[in-house]
Amino acid sequence: MNPQLLEKEITQDSKQRLAALAEEGRKASTLQLEQLSIKGYEQVVKVTDKKAQLTAIIAIHDTTLGPALGGVRIRPYASFNDALEDVLRLSKGMTYKSAIAEVGFGGGKSVIIADPKTQKTPEMMFAMGNAIERLGGNYIAAEDVGSTMEDCKNIRRATKYVVGLSQAKSSGDPGPFTAWGVFRGIQSAAKKLFGSDSLEGRTVALQGLGCVGAYLVDYLFWAGARLIIADIDEAKVQKIAKRTDAKIVSPDQILSVECDILSPCAFGGVINDQTIPQFRCKAIAGAANNQLLRDSHGVALKERGILYAPDFVINGGGLLNVSAELEEMGYNPTFSRNKTHRIYDCLSAIYDIAEKNNDSTHAAAIALGDYRIKYGIGKRLISPTFHSIIE
Ligand code: NAD
Repeated sequence: MNPQLLEKEITQDSKQRLAALAEEGRKASTLQLEQLSIKGYEQVVKVTDKKAQLTAIIAIHDTTLGPALGGVRIRPYASFNDALEDVLRLSKGMTYKSAIAEVGFGGGKSVIIADPKTQKTPEMMFAMGNAIERLGGNYIAAEDVGSTMEDCKNIRRATKYVVGLSQAKSSGDPGPFTAWGVFRGIQSAAKKLFGSDSLEGRTVALQGLGCVGAYLVDYLFWAGARLIIADIDEAKVQKIAKRTDAKIVSPDQILSVECDILSPCAFGGVINDQTIPQFRCKAIAGAANNQLLRDSHGVALKERGILYAPDFVINGGGLLNVSAELEEMGYNPTFSRNKTHRIYDCLSAIYDIAEKNNDSTHAAAIALGDYRIKYGIGKRLISPTFHSIIE
């Protein structure tokens, strides 16, 4: 896609044209919003649109610090209850991620029950946009697993409440920012473990060389780390090993290799009853969301003497980057980089609080998030600016 063309297309869309489109969509659609009452959540809405073949859920967990920001996940969930469980867990996670990152947003997420490869259509995304519009800005959508920038563009035809579009003030690929936050988190773990944050000669084992891992591996290489890598994509592993002198191990071996720091950057649930006894690392610091299968696994890591960088803190760089699009001054990569850089300090504080309270680092990070929400620390004072409607 040519970003300049898209930018032109969006900037040419007058406010009236978009409003007319949205109105037309509302009239013609069979869109229905049903409020679900879920304890502990501000608003959970079941969205259906027969004509657009849309079944979705939008969950707004908490907006104390600002409007709920979170991606649109598209997955062929086996049941509505599976989708509900996922969106509740994910939206709550976003509340804590945003509170810790101090971006002035709350926690929200949406899920569409569909196979992104075979069932997703522009009409479906437009209908989703209409549903988001009806929430009046309480929920702001973004890309997530199964959704693309093209989908966000179709959502944008119905509502301005979406980030991550390709336009002049867009933030672009979050990967390098998430990876930089994880790199800083790995440095903070080294500082806590060894008294120095130098990674020279330290061994880091990296699981997953995707949008985040492929940047992280380079940052680590240039910082002097010894690397052990694994990915299910054999060609990718070979290519990256060649330029970083990394040792390759199989995906089955990566979690149990001997190393200073293990960095899971592939998928969630990697810290569980089976893996904890097998770990031969001193710390775990990676990008993957929901690394702990259950909260109690944070305590189990502490008992094994393994330092854990809570995932929703260390992987906040992508959120910091995308949310910067809604700053009044518009997106600025230096601003995002500088905020991402501070993940180091935030994690160092969490390690110290956990140690002082004889608690797991996961529990300490949750407590910090709760404290910020309770006292409104980092609360948004200026409404987000949607630059995609400014001509
Ligand atoms: P991605 O899909 O681009 O990359 C995942 C990589 O993991 C792929 O290269 C894949 O081949 C590999 N992989 C899959 N199964 C594997 C296995 N069994 N062993 C080893 N490698 C395996 O995803 P990503 O965007 O790099 O994100 C990685 C993780 O970080 C995800 O959990 C994601 O939710 C989380 N995260 C990403 C961002 C971001 O900015 N992209 C932000 C926050 C959190």
